[in-house]
Amino acid sequence: MIYPIVMYGDPVLRQKAKDIAPDTDVATLVEDMFETMYVANGVGLAAPQIGKSMRLFVVDGSAIEDQPDMEGFKKVFVNPQMIEELGTPWEYEEGCLSIPNIREKVSRKERLIIKYFDENWNVHEDTFDGLKARIIQHEYDHIEGKMFVDYLTPLKKRLLKGKLSDISKGKVDTEYRILAPLKK
Ligand SMILES: [Zn+2]
Repeated sequence: MIYPIVMYGDPVLRQKAKDIAPDTDVATLVEDMFETMYVANGVGLAAPQIGKSMRLFVVDGSAIEDQPDMEGFKKVFVNPQMIEELGTPWEYEEGCLSIPNIREKVSRKERLIIKYFDENWNVHEDTFDGLKARIIQHEYDHIEGKMFVDYLTPLKKRLLKGKLSDISKGKVDTEYRILAPLKK
């Protein structure tokens, strides 16, 4: 099942998402999230982006061109807990399926240690760096109610205000189905 993607401005994107009860069957939801993400050409999708305030996100960076170390980087994060973010902050231009057609540079630390369950409820504690860490940090923010535009300077934010307001109203071109909170 392909879900519409929730747009900027929806309160669900600002809630701290809730843990999923252990051993809940998440197989169908995970499958649907990957399907929804692929249709939208995304590399990550968090449950709040399909309107579910749950601590779950999926990533697949294996199709990113010119990034050979991303091969096989397809993962599911259930009830993740960020243990630590380390290293030198670096800037990278981020985008978000909930904020279509806007890309801005965001500074984040280069490495992280994260504890999480996979879709079969096996627990993992792994270290990721570079672009993999970047994608995870972006998705992790979603389950904490944060979005990448929160990191921008007040001036940048002011410049984007009109576009963000249009996105909330559904006045935006996308090749995927959207759910805009202020659409009349
Ligand atoms: Zn996003």
